[in-house]
Amino acid sequence: MKVQLNPNLLGFKCIRCGARYPVGDYFEGCSACAREGHAASLAAQYVESAPVENSGRMPLVCESYLGEGQTPLHSLDELASQLGVARLWAKLESANPTGSHKDRMSRYVVARAQQLGIPKVVAATSGNAGVSLAATAASVGMHATIVTRRGAPGRWVEAIRGHGAEVIECPDAASRWVEAGKMAQAGTHYPATNHLTPPVGSNPFGVQGYKSLGYELVAELGPEAVDAILVPTDRGDLLWGIYEGLREMKELGQLAKMPRLFATEPYPRIFSVLHGADYRESFPGISRQASVAGSTVTWQALCAVRASGGAAVVVDDPVAESSRLELARNSVAAELCSAASLGALRSLVADNTLSPGATVVLIITSDGTLF
Ligand SMILES: [Zn+2]
Repeated sequence: MKVQLNPNLLGFKCIRCGARYPVGDYFEGCSACAREGHAASLAAQYVESAPVENSGRMPLVCESYLGEGQTPLHSLDELASQLGVARLWAKLESANPTGSHKDRMSRYVVARAQQLGIPKVVAATSGNAGVSLAATAASVGMHATIVTRRGAPGRWVEAIRGHGAEVIECPDAASRWVEAGKMAQAGTHYPATNHLTPPVGSNPFGVQGYKSLGYELVAELGPEAVDAILVPTDRGDLLWGIYEGLREMKELGQLAKMPRLFATEPYPRIFSVLHGADYRESFPGISRQASVAGSTVTWQALCAVRASGGAAVVVDDPVAESSRLELARNSVAAELCSAASLGALRSLVADNTLSPGATVVLIITSDGTLF
């Protein structure tokens, strides 16, 4: 099937200053904010009456290449009663075709590259985003280049190569962005991920793919059922995508109340900004929660937390590890940073941020094979 722009897509809007832009590719975010020294990404705008059903609010009309989404929702009744919340669910994004939520994004990145006639895609990543993009690109015969850092986990590099992608190794995480940025700016590759410091969110077409997770939760649990959603967060693509999906449903009258979104992180980043730090600072740390162990904060992550009345919760590695074991005992195999959400939930209940009547969803972004 040929990829087409969704006729309901009107253009893009800066999530910080509100500047509007025609339909296009804004990998570096809002140019007006950039001139003021700020990094902020753009969000897609649709015709007001456009429905969320039948991809009415997805940027492209395109097939699902790998069959992502509609992931299982696992009930954790025993843990809910131990923790003192009314209901607890785990949304198993690990059930996506390449084992993580990233497949929701890769679909729209590859589709947009196809639509533009760009034969190559690139991502700066050392983990599941690379495998997802490589497999999705391979499914349509597209070339993928994945720029990793030295010392990236060997099994990920093997899985990326195993799906036919070229792997370029850089000395560290920051130089990955420079390398991927050169390819994006040269126009030889269509980029999936951010390449700026301080960063913006990933490719705006791709991030739109995460809205479907928000839609699914409302369809599965009902318009009033969810009080809080806990999301492992680094640069906040998933957090923002879920927020956007829920916001659209609320505006269309299909969601009665916006769930509070809680970003879980291994050391204070969003937490520090919410307590006064500038979001453009660097927040370095060391953690075994590898998928979320960056040193930056994005405007989109802050927006999702603030606009939903949520917060950021810091969970260290020992708590994440004991939470992983606890989840496994309840039949959920989770990546370490996803398991950390259970530890975060425990703190939110302990300090009365969440009430005993709360219904909570943990987003299990990837499976138990990952740190
Ligand atoms: Zn702006």
